[in-house]
Parts: sequence; structure tokens; C-alpha cells
Amino acid sequence: MNFTELGLDSRLLEGIDAMGYETATPVQEQVIQPILSGKDLIASAQTGTGKTAAFLLPVVNKIITEPHDAHLINAVIIVPTRELAVQIAQTMEGLSYFTDVSCIAVYGGGDGSSFTTEKKALSSGVDMVVCTPGRMIAHLNMGYVKMSAVKYLVLDEADRMLDMGFHDDLMKIISFLPKKRQNLLFSATMPMKMRELARKILHDPLEINI
Ligand code: AMP
Repeated sequence: MNFTELGLDSRLLEGIDAMGYETATPVQEQVIQPILSGKDLIASAQTGTGKTAAFLLPVVNKIITEPHDAHLINAVIIVPTRELAVQIAQTMEGLSYFTDVSCIAVYGGGDGSSFTTEKKALSSGVDMVVCTPGRMIAHLNMGYVKMSAVKYLVLDEADRMLDMGFHDDLMKIISFLPKKRQNLLFSATMPMKMRELARKILHDPLEINI
């Protein structure tokens, strides 16, 4: 399927074109429209299927076409590793190049200066945050991150986050978010503990298996 048929904004179509994507992958075909329509979603999709663009495109599309607060965090994407955070932020830079949506990667393991850089971006205003759980909690505990405008939560590679022992950290971050929001959960596998997490976080989700 062509991206124009999926109802995406022309600014994103330009970004997609610049990235060299010609047709949507199966996961993109299946999830972009439900996300645009506001559904919560649980999708089993492996890395390499194009799942990153599958959630970034509709979330950015909604941010730029619906009323939003430009100086507060609108979307939070939680991922298991700093490598994945960086990779998603890079894909975001390409896809959103022709929009004014800003994104920062927040991840542990860096030196003090990167913490300071993250703190500045988080407290001065950024539209989207891609974060690892522990590092995000460190910032939240300091009190300068406003989560009151968050409308979209994405958990990517959720099974790896549970395997790495991040369940309680995830629930802690979620406790800072407004109750009314759209939740998107991506996971390669669907063990019982994932179903339990989904039950706690998602509202009437659409289930998609790629
Ligand atoms: P992901 O599964 O999100 O890690 O994506 C795997 C790779 O596929 C990345 O290098 C993407 O840039 C690329 N990709 C994602 N969507 C498309 C598409 N529709 N057409 C071509 N390449 C894509």
C-alpha cells in the first residue's frame, strides 16, 4: 500500500519520500489507520518489520494535525536500551524533518553532561521523548519534567523490558502520566506476563499479529 492512501499529512509524506520508503510494510499497513483513529493497540511485531515508522508516523501526524501544547511533552516512547532509543530518535529526525515536532532521546549510561543536556531539553520543552526506563525515572524524580500534556504512550520491545526487570519502573513512569491517553504496545513475543501488563495499561486494545 502507498503511504498517501494511509491518510498521512503531506509534511510526513515528504519525510517518508526523503527516507526512501516507497510502500508501507505489513505492520505499517495494519497499524497506522487504527492509531490515527485513536485506538489503543497491542501488536506483536519483530524488529526489522518497520514497526518504528508504524508508530512514529501516526503519532507525529496526530500531533501536527490536532490541537496540542507545543511547549510540553505530547508523546513518551519507552524502550529497553539506549541503542534502540538512539535508533528511534534518528528515524524520527528523518521522518519528521518537514514538521516542527521535536524529539529527544533520554537514556542512561552517559556522563554528567548528557544528563544536563537532557534536563535542559526536558525542562524547556520538547514534543516527544524516547527514553529508557531508569533514566526517565531519574529525571522525573527531580521534579522538572511536566507530563500533564502527554497524550500518547508507546512501549516498544515491551517483552525485553519485562525480561530486563523494568516492570515496576514502567508502572512508575506511567503513574506520572494523565489517565486519558492513547497507549500503543509493541512486543516480539506475547507471554502471559505481557498480557497482564497489557491489561493494566491498555483500554479496549486492538490486537495485531504480524
Ligand atoms: P524497524 O523494524 O522499525 O527497526 O525498521 C527496519 C528498517 O526498515 C529500518 O532501517 C527502516 O528505516 C526501514 N523501513 C521502515 N519502513 C520502511 C518502508 N516502508 N520502506 C522501506 N524501508 C523501511
